[in-house]
Amino acid sequence: MRVVVDQDLCGTTGQCVLTLPGTFRQREPDGVAEVCVATVPQALHAAVRLAASQCPVAAIRIIESHPGDDERASAEPAPSPAKPERHAVKHQRNPGGHDGTV
Ligand code: SF4
Repeated sequence: MRVVVDQDLCGTTGQCVLTLPGTFRQREPDGVAEVCVATVPQALHAAVRLAASQCPVAAIRIIESHPGDDERASAEPAPSPAKPERHAVKHQRNPGGHDGTV
């Protein structure tokens, strides 16, 4: 499992950092949350899911691992799902609104 924070959405509440200080941290000086682990250890999966569910602005995204991901991850750059997901979230939060595309 990997976890990412949409830093455009993060409301800097620090709740995820309080829940899992070894997984999340707040950057200086603006308090936006960052993920400080490349992959989430199995023992913390439930806690990360809880932190994601408790984020007041749904800025935490979980990327589930699948068999074979570890080998690919070491051979290729990590995929960057944040932008498509961010787009999807903005669309959900602004139904019918303009998404900036022409
Ligand atoms: S809980 Fe959500 S809004 Fe609060 S710091 Fe973490 S990612 Fe940001």
